[in-house]
Amino acid sequence: MIQLPTNGPLDEQTHLSTLKAVTLDKIYQEFSVLRRSEMMPSPTVPTLASLVEKYLKSEIDSLLIGKPSDLRIHIENFARFFSGFHQYTKINPTKKQKSIFDADYAALSNAIRNAFDYDAFSGEKDGWGAYALVKNHRLRICPYCNLNHVNYHSDDPVVTVKKPRRKRGVPKPPVVKKFTMRPPLDHFYPRGHYPYLGISLYNLIPSCHQCNSGVKHDDDPFQKQVKTPFEFPPNSIQFSLENAQDFAIPVTGSAPGTPIASVKIKVIGINGAQSHVDFFELVDRYGWYSPEIQDLYNSILSYWAVGPTLGSCLIAGDMIRGFSESDREKRALGICISHIYTELINLPRSN
Ligand SMILES: [Zn+2]
Repeated sequence: MIQLPTNGPLDEQTHLSTLKAVTLDKIYQEFSVLRRSEMMPSPTVPTLASLVEKYLKSEIDSLLIGKPSDLRIHIENFARFFSGFHQYTKINPTKKQKSIFDADYAALSNAIRNAFDYDAFSGEKDGWGAYALVKNHRLRICPYCNLNHVNYHSDDPVVTVKKPRRKRGVPKPPVVKKFTMRPPLDHFYPRGHYPYLGISLYNLIPSCHQCNSGVKHDDDPFQKQVKTPFEFPPNSIQFSLENAQDFAIPVTGSAPGTPIASVKIKVIGINGAQSHVDFFELVDRYGWYSPEIQDLYNSILSYWAVGPTLGSCLIAGDMIRGFSESDREKRALGICISHIYTELINLPRSN
């Protein structure tokens, strides 16, 4: 829903210089375990595992800092060169289902997952890791839904001043704790399906818990052709009211707070963005926010009651929405409120 820039905030060189050597080393270590098994019986005999290892090593730069289109090429290459293994990860079988697949696939998938070590990246708080990446994005609101905040705090000092001791009256020194919190980093192309994209810079998207855990789960945007936030066409989600005519502003004034009709929010995607609307369940989720749109309508009624020139007054628009039009992507529900505000004030007035 919100387009993320592909240049500037993401430090590709830092990502590469921090992770390349360590990831190559982990690939070597993980595949050394496989090398001791029957999966790689001889250095001279090419096997699935040895070919995959070769691919991962030769494509390491692109796997770490490749743009979204590069990441899709890797998925397609795995489908072409390692089709059986690709089918396995594409299904991402449960423990029970794994028994029907070649046991080597599970071992290979685990080796790749461990080598492209998201868990280590996720926990890194001091150097380049998940916290620094989220900070660099400078997002306030989830780019998938524009509904929820993605709060970020890193080492914010929380000072607690203790009361003075009774007898001596000497205050105890304040206790300073550090407060650290970040939103989830979503693997846009899921790690379960594509373990080699576990720490790809352009595959890690700060998102809200709802989108990350409640809606997206392990569903695969690649198979459903959903665009990444880096490629999302601007202004491609449009909000309106299903029953806008029921909300025409009355000429004679109407008491705010009186629901005229039930609010039905329409969400559509244009320029190829309908798959995003469907994938993130935006129609159902925005339905929850009918009361906020009713509040917006009530505010419009209040302003009409005190002055008839609302439509030509830009400041009134900012006041009714509660934010400036240019900030709509930085406010929860901002795009929806902005669109429906414009729709409502442009409706012909009714008696
Ligand atoms: Zn979200």
